[in-house]
Amino acid sequence: MTQPIVSFSVAAASAAIAGSAARFPVRRIFCIGRNYAEHAAEMGASVDRGNPVFFCKPADALVADGTDIPYPQATQELHHEVEMVVALHSGGTDIAEADALAHVFGYAVGLDLTRRDLQAAAKAKGLPWDTAKAFDHSAPLSAIRPASEIGHPRGAALTLEVNGTLRQNTDIAQMIFAVPEILARLSRLFELKAGDLVFTGTPAGVGPLARGDVVHARLAGVAELRGRIA
Ligand code: MN
Repeated sequence: MTQPIVSFSVAAASAAIAGSAARFPVRRIFCIGRNYAEHAAEMGASVDRGNPVFFCKPADALVADGTDIPYPQATQELHHEVEMVVALHSGGTDIAEADALAHVFGYAVGLDLTRRDLQAAAKAKGLPWDTAKAFDHSAPLSAIRPASEIGHPRGAALTLEVNGTLRQNTDIAQMIFAVPEILARLSRLFELKAGDLVFTGTPAGVGPLARGDVVHARLAGVAELRGRIA
């Protein structure tokens, strides 16, 4: 029997760690939707505390800080969503809220880029969000700041400027589901593991991005992300 010839390799996704030459290997990217009341309201959605919205992006959707972000194909309505991102160095299933933060390696700031036109069409038909959320280059991410340096922030300003104009501005203390509850609930649906990232939802003020726009996301005291839509 002849052996198949595999003449390619696939690069493993990873993220930068602030102040270190080491890389954080990325396994999966989980996201929660509708985690700030004013954003849920601006999207015309209600918040169901019993049933949070989760979705995923592929690990190779990451874009590093300071890198051009390609304007995606198949959309006329690319939207920014600035979010705090949690990086895990361990995991499990059925994690208790009280134990959840022990699994956190660190924190970052990222953009959950969204093809809003495709999402609206999917919502209207009750279809999945994959094409709206999980496209190439849809997850720009700052370097990860280790919790061993900064602890576990419960409150911090989360902002996004586009071309120097403030578009989104909140405090992570306003999240409906806080980080321990997000991790506990996710771990009832998926086994969380080292290398997982969790985007924790966006505040109000989402809006369109165009080619040439310069984005500057910031989670005060934790991380910053800069990029340009190319
Ligand atoms: Mn989001």
